[in-house]
Amino acid sequence: MLLKATSTTRELIERILPENGVPSLRIVLNKVESVLTRYIEKAEEGLPIVGYHFSFPVEYLLCFDCVPVCLEATSYFLATFLAGGSEYYYDLMNNWGHPFHTCTSQKGAMGMSLDDLFKFDALISPTAPCDCTIASYPFFKYKENYPLIMVDLPFLHQEKSYYYYADQLKLGLSHLGKIIGQEPDFKKLKEAIELENQVNRIKFEIFELIKATPSPVENMYNPSSAGSYIFIGGTPENLAFHKEMLEITKTRYKNNEHYGGEERVRSIWPYMITWFSIDLMEWLDRNLGLSVLFDIFNYNFADPIDTNSDLDTMFLGMSKKGMDFSMVKQSTEFFEPFIDYCVNFAKDFSADCFIYTQSIACKQFGSVPQLLREALRDEVGIPMLLIEFDAGDARMTSLKTFKEKISMFVQTLI
Ligand code: SF4
Repeated sequence: MLLKATSTTRELIERILPENGVPSLRIVLNKVESVLTRYIEKAEEGLPIVGYHFSFPVEYLLCFDCVPVCLEATSYFLATFLAGGSEYYYDLMNNWGHPFHTCTSQKGAMGMSLDDLFKFDALISPTAPCDCTIASYPFFKYKENYPLIMVDLPFLHQEKSYYYYADQLKLGLSHLGKIIGQEPDFKKLKEAIELENQVNRIKFEIFELIKATPSPVENMYNPSSAGSYIFIGGTPENLAFHKEMLEITKTRYKNNEHYGGEERVRSIWPYMITWFSIDLMEWLDRNLGLSVLFDIFNYNFADPIDTNSDLDTMFLGMSKKGMDFSMVKQSTEFFEPFIDYCVNFAKDFSADCFIYTQSIACKQFGSVPQLLREALRDEVGIPMLLIEFDAGDARMTSLKTFKEKISMFVQTLI
């Protein structure tokens, strides 16, 4: 289903849009299609299917010969690719009795599981980033009877926490190996991590170029890069996507070019974009000249993981990356560091404004927007628009409402 949705969207883009239209989406769909095709072949050969939470870096699972499937990415890919999104599956779960205000990224996958679309040999998730995750995953164990491994991720981000989580990762992978009848292959793990170290360096370079005015990166790079990072991490396709994007970005930078017309407003979205309709990104570029410089899935950079020392050092690096992963970093810390780096981002990237999307599901972040708004006003002198929404369900705040609110907000800036 996901492969068909991905292929159809890619075909539509190739047939309808001009050749230079949304290159990031065009390239990433091609890469995701290639990985999905390979994974489907592997599943047909009988390799175990391992479901994972998006905040568990997928390359860590490549120490096994398995088919990794991200539950949350599947929900949100289908939310964005299918007419009607994943709404049918949200409703299925709501009717089953799951609370309506939980995260649709998990709820979609739960509904798909209830509808017999998923079959997992095992599932693995950290106890992060939020209560929605921790309260939703037991459904898969108790209702669907899938073996579930929850890797305990500490709240404090201190040195001792990194050591603790490194042990948890080791235990989790060893436990997973026992369930699927395989020994972890640390040589393969090392290769996947080294590949992601390269991706990280490229993303960092792209990020530096985003500081230029106009930004040389199109808005659609945000969901494309997030999808690639979460769904096909550790694969040559992910590296190829980022290499191609770096070349496009460098060319635009040299020519002082902005995608889709003149850049009029530079915005930072410190939380999520609208996964129910990622075409909003393109509309903002073309209709309002509003750059979305980056969103939550694109501004976290871990130090490269040391793969040349011993295994313990490698796991410590994996732990630091896992604990500072997108959304985990923000949601498992106190809010002060988040406010601090948002203020610094605003200065470093010459942002004109912030657009904060508060999801109905992210209770742990409900009190932060007002504090952030005050900090941005007092420290940088820029405004913040707050929009409440559900990232995967257009029925809460529609695309039309998003367009209207942002259009009105932009009028106050120009
Ligand atoms: S932090 Fe928010 S968006 Fe992320 S998984 Fe939890 S509820 Fe969903």
